[in-house]
Amino acid sequence: MTLLVDTAWTPTSSKRRFDVENPATGEVITSVPDGNADDALDALGRAADAQSDWAATSPRSRSEILYRAYELITARADEFATLMTTEMGKPYPEARGEVAYGAEFFRWFAEEAVRIGGDHLLTPDGSNRVVVRHRPVGPCILITPWNFPLAMGTRKIGPAIAAGCTMVFKPAELTPLTSLLLADVLREAGLPDGVLNVVTTSDPGEVAGAWMSSGLARKVSFTGSTAVGKLLLRQAADTVMRTSMELGGNAPFIVCDDADLDTALDAVMVAKMRNMGQACTAANRIFVHRDVMDEFASALTQRMSTLTVGNGLSEGTQVGPLVERKAVDKVEELVDDAVRRGASLRCGGTRPDGPGHFYPPTVLTDVHPESALMSTEIFGPVAALIPFDGSGIEADDTVVAAANRTPAGLVGYVCSRDAERLDAISAGLAVGMVGVNTGLVSNPAAPFGGIKESGLGREGGRLGIEEFLDVTYTSTPIRRRR
Ligand code: NAP
Repeated sequence: MTLLVDTAWTPTSSKRRFDVENPATGEVITSVPDGNADDALDALGRAADAQSDWAATSPRSRSEILYRAYELITARADEFATLMTTEMGKPYPEARGEVAYGAEFFRWFAEEAVRIGGDHLLTPDGSNRVVVRHRPVGPCILITPWNFPLAMGTRKIGPAIAAGCTMVFKPAELTPLTSLLLADVLREAGLPDGVLNVVTTSDPGEVAGAWMSSGLARKVSFTGSTAVGKLLLRQAADTVMRTSMELGGNAPFIVCDDADLDTALDAVMVAKMRNMGQACTAANRIFVHRDVMDEFASALTQRMSTLTVGNGLSEGTQVGPLVERKAVDKVEELVDDAVRRGASLRCGGTRPDGPGHFYPPTVLTDVHPESALMSTEIFGPVAALIPFDGSGIEADDTVVAAANRTPAGLVGYVCSRDAERLDAISAGLAVGMVGVNTGLVSNPAAPFGGIKESGLGREGGRLGIEEFLDVTYTSTPIRRRR
């Protein structure tokens, strides 16, 4: 394994380094090598060289490496969680949750590695036997965001290893440390040299550009913003590269007039506040039926305003800092814009003084449809409530139409006590995933992903490994009796 991170591993050609900061304090934790295009091409060359040997390994041996890595991450959960909280801010208990979730992708794909199938069929006229094979797509480019530093990596690395692909991996600039620890664990688990090659950089365009135009990679799997996803799709066209795109969301959360309000509140707190609202699955637009709006808004304000904000490593912290100063600036702008357009501020809304990049849990009611946060991912602890009216099917159709008024289509949520209504609204939402009376849809066994501009392909579930496999077949004429 080439790890372009440390003199103990492979040295980088670039002599530059960049700092990694703790967003709760603003202090520098450490620095890591700032990889450049030469480093990128060196790493991809190693992945390409290792591809055929790696593809020839047995599924069982790939499975066992993944399983060992799952056990090592689990055994070192405290170390992973502490590091993750330190570099990106999420409260330690949430980081422990992500360690369990992230490790599960390795266990899941350890099980999938030995279940790669194929097909065998006779053509309808009886003239040919067709044998369908699945084989590794080849060297892959993996690029991940900062918001789930472990799980976004394992969700790609797990299926790539299971399928027999080698890879280059660029973690986010703000959170490289968890990924480096993960690479170390994979090395300890027995991953051979050249299979996983990590490049840390402060210039993603240079590194990814070198990879995308090299002609050596056969696949790019990206999680991040829709804007960068579109750029990579355009670059992938030049070599007709396979793509998986897990892009931005703008999730609607619908509270019907017959919803159990305690269930809806529990669900919205998870869908809104996980990761301080910095999740592609975060409830961005919360549509509440006008008949239950007052009660719901008051109860939500009570819950949001009593959350404990602080350093994620401090006992009792429920809300950590946002990842960087720019993130706080953006949230502040979105809230100010909504208030200017007539929204009522029920709690929060005022940025505290430093140190650290904190923003308080905030509730806005009567948000105007033209507000910028209706069409932008808030990525912060801000609940934006929008009322809707009507009764029965008419109300449901109205809110589904409003929910679908966005180019994004990642996830939606709906709360009601009526099974038929839940079914109709879930079917009507133009999204890849729906949470029904729950604020959490992610699970390694489920095919995570969006439709419309939220992406292409699925991660996790039975489909996750297919993203890293090509389908080929041989056709053999059948000898006929004379
Ligand atoms: P981002 O700016 O698109 O960054 C994601 C990754 O792409 C980072 O590693 C980044 O590097 C890299 N990158 C930036 N510019 C690039 C370029 N020109 N070429 C190649 N790579 C480039 O997104 P983010 O702000 O980190 O993450 C938030 C976004 O991710 C949100 O839109 C969120 O909804 C989405 N997201 C989606 C999912 C999903 O599963 N659908 C999951 C999590 C997050 P640097 O770190 O150096 O900038």
